Formats: sequence, C-alpha cells, structure tokens
Amino acid sequence: ENAEEASALAGFARSAGVPVNVVDHPELSDFLTPSIVDRGDIVVAISTGGAAPVLGRRLREKIEALLPQNLERLAAFARSFRSAVAARVAPEKRRLFWENFFDGPLASRVLAGDEKRVREDLIDSLNRPHYETGAKSEAGVIHIVGAGPGDPELLTLRALRLLQSADVILYDRLVGEKILSLARRDAVRLYVGKAKADHAVPQDQIEQRLIDFARSGKIVVRLKGGDPFIFGRGGEELDAAKAAGIPVFVTPGITAATGCAASARMPLTHRDLSQAVTFITGHAKDDGEPDLDWRAIAALGHTLVVYMGVGRAASIARSLIVNGRAGSTPVAIIEKGTTEQQKILKGRLSDLGAIVRAGGIKGPALLVIGEVAAKADGVLFEELALAERRAA
Ligand code: SAH
Repeated sequence: ENAEEASALAGFARSAGVPVNVVDHPELSDFLTPSIVDRGDIVVAISTGGAAPVLGRRLREKIEALLPQNLERLAAFARSFRSAVAARVAPEKRRLFWENFFDGPLASRVLAGDEKRVREDLIDSLNRPHYETGAKSEAGVIHIVGAGPGDPELLTLRALRLLQSADVILYDRLVGEKILSLARRDAVRLYVGKAKADHAVPQDQIEQRLIDFARSGKIVVRLKGGDPFIFGRGGEELDAAKAAGIPVFVTPGITAATGCAASARMPLTHRDLSQAVTFITGHAKDDGEPDLDWRAIAALGHTLVVYMGVGRAASIARSLIVNGRAGSTPVAIIEKGTTEQQKILKGRLSDLGAIVRAGGIKGPALLVIGEVAAKADGVLFEELALAERRAA
C-alpha cells in the first residue's frame, strides 16, 4: 500500500537481478501474471496489461467453458499422428487433412473418449493404398444428446459444444427454437416430430436416418428433450447405432422432473415429506393404458412424477385413489416448465382431471403427486375455479 516502500523493494529486487511484480502496480512491475487456461500443451493466456485483472479472470472463465475438457488429449492424439500423416499425405494436402480431422467425426470421437478405436480407424485409413484426403471415407459419429426441459441455459456444456460441432441435427417437438438457434449456422436441421397427432417420422425411420447420415461421414446429433434415457427412446436409438457398428455416445440432459421442480421451487424429495421419488409414464406403447401396477404405486406414499399423463390425468387419479392413496394428496401440474410459457396449477388428487380441464392444460406437462406438491409456486385450483365463476 505504501508507494515509496513498494518502489524501494522493487528496486532491491531489480538490483539483485530478480524480476519483480508489485500487485496492482503495473508501473513498478517487470512482468504481469496473466490468467491462464491450461490444457496440457494447449495454453491460452489472457492479459489486460495490468488494467483489469478481474476482467481477465472473467474472460478466462468464459474461454474455459468453451473449450472441451479433453482438449489436452486431442492435442496429444494429433501429435502422435504428425509423422504418420507427414509420411502419407502430400504437403499441399496436409492442412486440409488436419482441418477435416479437427472439424470431423474423428476429433469428436476422441473428445468423447473413443481414442483407442479412432487410432485404429485412422491407421487403417492412412494405410489404404489410395489414401485420399478429404474423401469422406471415414465413418461418422452419432451423439444422442439431452437438450434439457426447454430453457437453453439448462443445456450442459457438452450439449452446447456438440450442437456447435454438428453437421446434422435431428430434433423433436420438445426442443425449442431457442436451443436450435445455438447450433452451428450451417448444420442441417431435421424435425422428426414425436407428438401423437404430428407428422412424426416413425421411430425405425429416425434410426435409419441417423445411421445413413453417420455412414456418409457426418457428425450427427440426435437432440432430445430432457434426458434421452428417461422416456425418450434414446435406448432404442443407441441399440440401432450399435447394431449398425456406428460409434455412438450419449450426453445426459436435465429431465423434465428436475427442471420443472426447480422452476416451481418444489423439492422432489424432502426430509420431512417424501423419502423417494418415482418417475412413471402415463402413456402406453400401443396408445392404450400404461401397463402399471397401480396398487404398488399407490402404496408408495412418496412423490410420483407422471410424464405424458395429461390426457389420462383423471383416470390416473382414480387408479391411485381406488388403490388407497388419499384424495386429499397434494398435486401440481407444470406445463412447459422452465420456459417463458410455464404454467403451474396446484390442488388435490381427487380434482386432478378437473384441474387439467379448468387450466386448459395441453402439455407438455408433468403431474406431480405427493406432499411436496403443496410447495410448488402455483395457482391453487380453488382460486382458479373462483376466478372462473367470477368471470362468468
Ligand atoms: N426425455 C424427456 C421426456 C420425454 S416424454 C425428459 O427427460 O424430460 C415427454 C413428456 O415429458 C411430456 O409429455 C411431459 O410430460 C414431459 N415434459 C417434457 N418437457 C417438459 C416441460 N418443459 N414441462 C413439463 N413437462 C415436460
């Protein structure tokens, strides 16, 4: 803090031949300490010339978030192929080779942890007698990616990175425009629907398209609402890709239950109210009643979250009550949770069907049944009914 003392000390250091940095005094310093992003051989240094170190740290955080954690391994991988590529690829084509590598499915697979097989594939293709750079002979890759419940800020860093590297994105109804707008500008986007009455592409055709695009050497992102493995048929797509021998990876997403619970400020478990939570579907494979053991489910007594249950809300409530869950159990209905159109209604289990009707709930919406539902930030059914009567 004492300028005279600081400058004297700096002078001592300098006369002893030691470089000196005086904190917050660039004019007395021989060097500055930049903010550093360190990924092995890859180092990004940010300096503000001493003007604003905190700004430097903020910039560092932004750059950290943009760069894949595995970047170090990607660099090491590329290094290990430098001489092989130099031997097999003509000098004027090397730049193109590496551009294709870093922009393409091979780097995407290395970053996803598939290093060993990429090494084998790359050795194979470099050893081919007529190796052609840029001939898109390398197999592509499929990423099955959870897009979260709607709010783009709820994407994972990895989902965002994959969106920005995809050549082709196949998405369904639950994925909003705001999330798609984060994708690479020149990515091909294909809507494959999913709603019952929609012009949905049948599941086997979706799988075939994923495989065909990957076979043509593309980085394919299959973008799904919420988490791909929770009522998302991600498992079927994974199996199809594996059966076709295509490298395939899964990125989890925030599922509707946890996303909606957070934005309704309603815990799903609670030390005093509910010791467990169960996710169930209200929709069956063949459009009939879901094949669920309602007696067992009613007996659970903890939080139930019903996906795809809006159309059958009344019959779900009836099944639970008939099997012993109290009609007075709190319920919450969260429509389009985490988005700007979010709507939350609350009431009792015995009124579940009536709440859906009175609230004009069309979905996508979740039904949350259990004591915790009383905590949701939402409009009570009684108030809704009262307001309606007043309006009439
Ligand atoms: N894989 C998705 C679920 C797909 S099933 C996930 O993990 O979230 C589709 C159902 O999810 C919808 O019928 C609805 O019940 C629920 N859902 C998805 N997004 C939602 C949202 N933003 N708000 C409320 N419910 C949602």
